[in-house]
Amino acid sequence: MRTAKEFKNIPSYHYYPETDRCLHCGGELERSHPVWSKTVIGLEEIAKITNWGYRCVNRATDCPKPDHVYRSAMADGLALKGYNYGLDVVVFVGQQRFDEHRTVGEIHQALQKQEVPISERRVTDYVGDYEVLLKCAQGAKLSGYRETILNNGGIVLAIDGVQPQKGKPILYIFRDALSGARLHAVSLWHQDTDSLVVEMKVVDRLLQELSIPLLGVVSDSQHAIQLGVAQVWPDVLHQLCHLHFLKAVQKPVYDEDSSLSKELKKGDVESAPLSAR
Ligand SMILES: [Zn+2]
Repeated sequence: MRTAKEFKNIPSYHYYPETDRCLHCGGELERSHPVWSKTVIGLEEIAKITNWGYRCVNRATDCPKPDHVYRSAMADGLALKGYNYGLDVVVFVGQQRFDEHRTVGEIHQALQKQEVPISERRVTDYVGDYEVLLKCAQGAKLSGYRETILNNGGIVLAIDGVQPQKGKPILYIFRDALSGARLHAVSLWHQDTDSLVVEMKVVDRLLQELSIPLLGVVSDSQHAIQLGVAQVWPDVLHQLCHLHFLKAVQKPVYDEDSSLSKELKKGDVESAPLSAR
């Protein structure tokens, strides 16, 4: 069993906040420090992920929340806090156990076949973690975050969709990107807009009950999510995850300009236009 430190020559990905403006004063953000940087072992690859923290340029003058550190909500969604395994691994384990009724030993073997270095003990842990994820007690737990949330001025809703295998359900996790509070989680077989709208309305009711303002939504570029957000929260700013967005805009660039595409391919994500910020 190798430890995370021993992985060499793995790609590194840099993530940046999904907003480029301070939510409190509208000031520009400037790079401050890595909020975290760790090796994440996913189903598809092992990579070094860095989540960069940014701060408001007006923090010394008139920003009402000078201490706020902005970070990538999508990077936070790749792996649970304190975990070196990706969320996709945890969801894979849970789905194999509860939907496919596989034993821990069988799941362990399946992961080894996919070259995911993991111990059987950890697979057992993740069966439990998956259950906790799905059962995240909403209102009650959220009330513990209420003060932090109100201090932040509201929540920025991050929607993560995790589908470890094609043809299997997607686990959607709705959480507050600012406080880290999980609001709702659901496993969906159908990823159409109507199904997502039903779940978004669950979140919306919860926020209304607790009188918590919604400042923005961050998600990947999944079309159904975009349509759902436009339907449930038409007036709320919806920012796509930068990395997904970047992949989307890089594609035509590859076709049009081979020298530029070589540049982009050569470096990691950091060499892309975002670093110009
Ligand atoms: Zn500010």
